[in-house]
Amino acid sequence: MLQSGIVGLPNVGKSTLFNALTRTRKAEAANYPFCTIEPNVGVVEVPDERLAPLAEIGGTKTIIPAAIEFVDIAGLVAGASKGEGLGNKFLANIREVDAIVHVVRCFEDDDIIHNMGGVDPVRDIEIINTELVLADLESVERQINSWAKKAKSGDKEAQAHSALLQRIVAHTGEGKPVITMDLSDDERALLKFYNLLSAKKVLYACNVKESDLADADNHPLVQKVAAWAAEHHGAGYCPICARVEEELGELAPDEAAEYLESLGISDSGCNRLIREAYKLLGLASYFTTGEKETRAWTFRLGLKAPQCAAVIHTDFEKKFIKAEVVSYDDLVNAGSIAAARDAGKYRLEGKEYVFKDGDVALFKVGA
Ligand code: GDP
Repeated sequence: MLQSGIVGLPNVGKSTLFNALTRTRKAEAANYPFCTIEPNVGVVEVPDERLAPLAEIGGTKTIIPAAIEFVDIAGLVAGASKGEGLGNKFLANIREVDAIVHVVRCFEDDDIIHNMGGVDPVRDIEIINTELVLADLESVERQINSWAKKAKSGDKEAQAHSALLQRIVAHTGEGKPVITMDLSDDERALLKFYNLLSAKKVLYACNVKESDLADADNHPLVQKVAAWAAEHHGAGYCPICARVEEELGELAPDEAAEYLESLGISDSGCNRLIREAYKLLGLASYFTTGEKETRAWTFRLGLKAPQCAAVIHTDFEKKFIKAEVVSYDDLVNAGSIAAARDAGKYRLEGKEYVFKDGDVALFKVGA
């Protein structure tokens, strides 16, 4: 299962957010046999408003949403790339995740010590990004000589690596993250060999005060982070109040709805954050609905029908014959499976069909 790592300076609200995510959105691990079971890893359901109407049409009671894992990577401080704090361990943890949720403090609270003095989220972002970029620079400098040596003997692949590594050194040497490099598809393929920290996609989670939640997207600090993230990192942002999310987790659903209303918001920040993280990971959902259950299955955008079938069972990829597919909108507009069939909305798709988010599928597989 793909993982998003929660990182940030101390005291910005990472653990509060992790607890809120994993307590209120905790997925039933038994439904997801390949999830990681460790204390700092939470399997979290991906909220999807399409599941309930679909279950009604399918006539099933059991709904199984898609899930992703969040990892609490505590303790990153300035100097981590030089081994400060538990630097190397944390950088190694970040290396293992597929994307990063970088929590920044946008709330003032005199009772909670700010690790770096006053509240300044862009400064905080730059502190952490500098550590990631420095760690990458070191790692690339370690590898560059051996590739350069091989390149001299005429090895084409080594020449490509050597040229790319030199570009990475120049780019990270200016303090810029690898993800902002302008790379060809071939170079992107080579990049995977180095597993660099600053090449990972990032979502900036702006932890705001509860009184700022109602208009959080227009909060000056959130806007500052959003502008910085877009300009310097090609990254998105998501406002959240970790403390409110934690409190919501302790309330019954109707009380939680009332609380949200009193704060002037309609949906919890965790829902938005999870959806954004899912998108960030390049993931989408297709659905199955049958007598037993209605379920969202996660696939990487761009995958073809047989690989999508393999998400249900690895055998299905080889044994794939065809898929019967209807889009969620067509099915819901038709009102029932029979009506969608009568209206000719179901399509038979073969091995080359590229799945779309919201496809409702039935696979035909061989013995
Ligand atoms: P971490 O070090 O980044 O994991 O930070 P914690 O989650 O432990 O939070 C540090 C302190 O800030 C705790 O006392 C939290 O209760 C508090 N905190 C976290 N989120 C918020 C928030 O949204 N508003 C306020 N006022 N305090 C918060």
